[in-house]
Amino acid sequence: MEAVRPHRVVIIGAGFAGIGMAIRLKQAGEDNFLIIERADKVGGTWRDNSYPGCACDIPSHLYSFSFVPKADWSRRYPTQSEIEEYLDSCVERYDLRVHLSLGVGLKTARFDEAVRVWRLVTDTGPVLAARIMVLAMGALHRPAIPSFSGLAEFRGNAFHSARWDHAIDLQGKEVAIIGTGASAIQFTPRVADCASRVVLFQRTPPWVLPKHDASYGAGQVWALRHVPLLRRALRAWHYISHELRAPAFIRFPALAAGAERRARSHAKRQVDNVSLREQLTPADRIGCKRVLLSNDYFPCLNRSNVQLVTSQIASITPHGVRTTDGVEHRANVLIFATGFHATEPFGEIEVFGRGGISLADAWHDGMRARLGLAVAEFPNLFILGGPNTGLGHNSVVFMLEAQIGHVLRCLRLMRRRNTLAIEVRAEVQAAFNTKLDRWMQRTVWLTGCRSWYLDRNGRNATLWPGFSFGYRLRTLWVSARHYRLSVSAGKLRRLRRIA
Ligand code: NAP
Repeated sequence: MEAVRPHRVVIIGAGFAGIGMAIRLKQAGEDNFLIIERADKVGGTWRDNSYPGCACDIPSHLYSFSFVPKADWSRRYPTQSEIEEYLDSCVERYDLRVHLSLGVGLKTARFDEAVRVWRLVTDTGPVLAARIMVLAMGALHRPAIPSFSGLAEFRGNAFHSARWDHAIDLQGKEVAIIGTGASAIQFTPRVADCASRVVLFQRTPPWVLPKHDASYGAGQVWALRHVPLLRRALRAWHYISHELRAPAFIRFPALAAGAERRARSHAKRQVDNVSLREQLTPADRIGCKRVLLSNDYFPCLNRSNVQLVTSQIASITPHGVRTTDGVEHRANVLIFATGFHATEPFGEIEVFGRGGISLADAWHDGMRARLGLAVAEFPNLFILGGPNTGLGHNSVVFMLEAQIGHVLRCLRLMRRRNTLAIEVRAEVQAAFNTKLDRWMQRTVWLTGCRSWYLDRNGRNATLWPGFSFGYRLRTLWVSARHYRLSVSAGKLRRLRRIA
């Protein structure tokens, strides 16, 4: 392979994780880094998910970088477009454009042991080299479309919620929506506003709580802009009030009984028809799947042009969806709100570590890393938003910041020791995962529901089974007990001379 001068860091993906990593590198005085991004815009999941009504269910002042505060969020819960603008503004403010290669997707990454660099092959041709590779692609970026029979014969338009086809005018159309997760409950009311008919296919109902959303008034924005302490206090308040929910998710699911009662009375207030309400009431514990927040989902199901179908889908026909009771539900647009391949996030991308081992092989029975960040046999590789770093109760940006801080600490350690490679010790990773799986047994996520949190073996490979501050504390410490630091720069030069 041709010799390419390595970047100190190459970041894959320009969403929250990649942009945050880049800002922190810059702030730490590191300029030799590159971000490659497969799309032609930054924003990650907040670029991909442009469906009508897309918004976040974590408050704006918490769902943003602590090191890039924004005083003028327009509302308590940010909309997709406002988050996308925020991420764009981060790129401008930290002059990241010069580090960005847009429209470049990673195909293969291979660790070259002789020189301790990653060699990256991209889909646009150029081969890149990186001392450190940071995979910052997140977990929710590969749309999952179930393989229904007959799908290829469907005569109308079909698309996934994360690939919304804005060219299709839904006005007056018959629309079938498959799935009732976080995405579907946000866009179904908007679709119902314009479509002549909406048929919503529900496999299992989600728990839905009210969303206490409101816009910020001019006075509030003024105060948040001019009194930084107030902004910090608001962020801390949001953080603490969300973190207080952790025990119900991670240790004592029975604590959530009050939330279940609130969700039931929310449905009672908003759904007139008793049998419809029963169909919308989950049998599993609240929190086992993602808890959803919405004020307009239930009311839209009362509309005469919206039908909830709970019979299972048998096949897709040329003109709609057939359910197992034999009914064909006609539709000229089919929208899949069926989620993502969260436990197989890297898809076609091939990553080869030491001795040519592939990440797919290392993870053949499920994703495992230490702190979600580092994988044994894959030196100089860090994953942001990796295995078991998602949260069911708080802001994932908090977790990403902890991970970014850990990567910077590793880079500092490498510099201090003048080494070219850092690799998590296999026994440390194994012990970490044994403990993690033990904690996981007590969580609500293993109380019997089906969710994207679980991999094909039923193991929760996506969420952190503890307090988020507990995770952060663990990321603060980087030491040779956890990582093997191999070959100093001087020694490698000497070895090369001998060879
Ligand atoms: P999701 O939560 O995985 O929901 C997928 C839906 O599709 C579920 O209702 C699922 O039913 C259904 N489904 C899947 N396969 C099916 C099949 N073969 N037949 C029938 N139904 C099927 O996906 P999502 O709504 O896109 O949300 C994914 C995640 O993205 C969320 O959990 C959340 O973390 C994130 N998100 C966040 C926000 C936010 O506000 N922050 C907004 C949108 C998305 P079952 O429930 O029966 O499996």
